[in-house]
Amino acid sequence: MPDTGAMERYRVPPGASLDLAAADPDDRAAFDGDKAAGRAHLKTLRDRLEAVQERLWADGSRSLLVVLQALDTGGKDGTIRKVFSGVNPQGVKVHGFGVPSDEELARDYLWRIHHHVPGDGEVTVFNRSHYEDVLVVRVMGLAPGEVWRRRYDHIVAFEQLVVDEGTTILKFMLNISKAEQAARLQARIDDPEKRWKFNAGDIDHRARWDDYMAAYTEAITRTSTATAPWYVVPANRKWYRDLVVATTIVETLEAMDLRYPEPEEGIEGLVIT
Ligand code: ADP
Repeated sequence: MPDTGAMERYRVPPGASLDLAAADPDDRAAFDGDKAAGRAHLKTLRDRLEAVQERLWADGSRSLLVVLQALDTGGKDGTIRKVFSGVNPQGVKVHGFGVPSDEELARDYLWRIHHHVPGDGEVTVFNRSHYEDVLVVRVMGLAPGEVWRRRYDHIVAFEQLVVDEGTTILKFMLNISKAEQAARLQARIDDPEKRWKFNAGDIDHRARWDDYMAAYTEAITRTSTATAPWYVVPANRKWYRDLVVATTIVETLEAMDLRYPEPEEGIEGLVIT
C-alpha cells in the first residue's frame, strides 16, 4: 500500500514549468507491487471511496468535481469504470462532453460546463471538459489564436468560483505514450467487438501528436492551481493509472472535514417496537 500522499509526485505545482515529454507514462514508482497486488489494492480503495462518498452525501455541504482528459485511447472510460464501480450511483454523476451543439456554440464555451458542476453532496466526473476548448480547438484550428489564448485566464477564474462555492476540483491528464496509443488503436481495429470505437478522426488527431503535447503542456501549466490542481498520470499500465486516480480521489475526500448531520434529539437509545 502506498504511503499517504505518495501520488502527490504526479501533481503539477502551481507555476511549475511542466515537461510533459519527460513525464514517464510507464512510471510506477508510487506503488511497490505488481499488477495483481495493484488490482487487490484498488478493491480496498473502492471500499474507502464508497464509505467516504456516503459521508459526502450525508454532510451535504461539499462536492467534488473530477476532470478527466486524455488523448484518444488514453483510458478515460476504463478509469471511470474501474475507479467508480461499486459506488452508490445516486451520489456520482458522469458527464461526457462531445462536439458542441449549435445551441452550445451560440453561447460562451463555459455555459454548457457550468450547468453540470456537482451539486451539494455529489461527485461529478467530467469525461472531457472545458479543456477541449484550449486543446482540440487550438490544435485543429477551430477558433483563432486570440480567442483560445484568453481562455486560460477564464478557466482559472471559473474554477476558482466553483471552488469558492464549496466544490473541490481534481484534474487528471492520463498520459500514454505514442507507441502505446498505436497499440491500442490497432487493437481496436483488429477486434470486431472494439472496432466501433475507432473512427477515422483518430488518425488525424494522432498525426498532430506533438501539437497536442504542446497544447496540453500549456493548458496544464497555466491552469494547475493550488485549489484546482492537475495530476499527470502515468497511464500506459491501466492498473497503475487506476491506482493513481483512485488514491488521489479517496485521500482528497477523506481529508475533507465531512460530518454526518446531527440526529434528532432523543433518538439515541430509542427502541422500535
Ligand atoms: P470520446 O472520444 O471521449 O470517447 P466521443 O467519441 O463522443 O467521446 O468524442 C468526443 C469528441 O468531441 C472528441 O473528438 C472531442 O475532441 C470533441 N470535443 C469535445 N469538446 C469539444 C469542443 N469544445 N470543441 C470541439 N470538439 C470537442
